[in-house]
Amino acid sequence: MAMKSAYTQRELDDLRGRLLQEKEQLEAQLATIEEATFATSQSDLSGEVSFDDENADAGTFTFERERDLSIENNVRDLLGKIDRALARMDEGTYGICSRCGKPIEKARLKALPYADLCIKDAQAQSRR
Ligand SMILES: [Zn+2]
Repeated sequence: MAMKSAYTQRELDDLRGRLLQEKEQLEAQLATIEEATFATSQSDLSGEVSFDDENADAGTFTFERERDLSIENNVRDLLGKIDRALARMDEGTYGICSRCGKPIEKARLKALPYADLCIKDAQAQSRR
């Protein structure tokens, strides 16, 4: 017997709306980060960085670039999860734990619409 989604069409539409909204925000955030990165590398190329302050500047630059990169990675990671959640909605497998195949708790999906593990499996995974 195929596992059927425990959600009504209305609930799914609601959750899909939230996923799409979040996706839009994340994409805007990503565009801002990429713009900032582009602006930084442009000013490097034009030689605006003073070599007297090379060490201090390089340190700050590396720190900021690394911080941007980790934010960027987080955003990309979340976008991937949202895309997978949307794909599961289309397939009709949304809300089903990808590890144990049981329905994911509704309260969990309301808090994290892109969750693909039930609470028990998510906890087991974060303990590893
Ligand atoms: Zn599970």
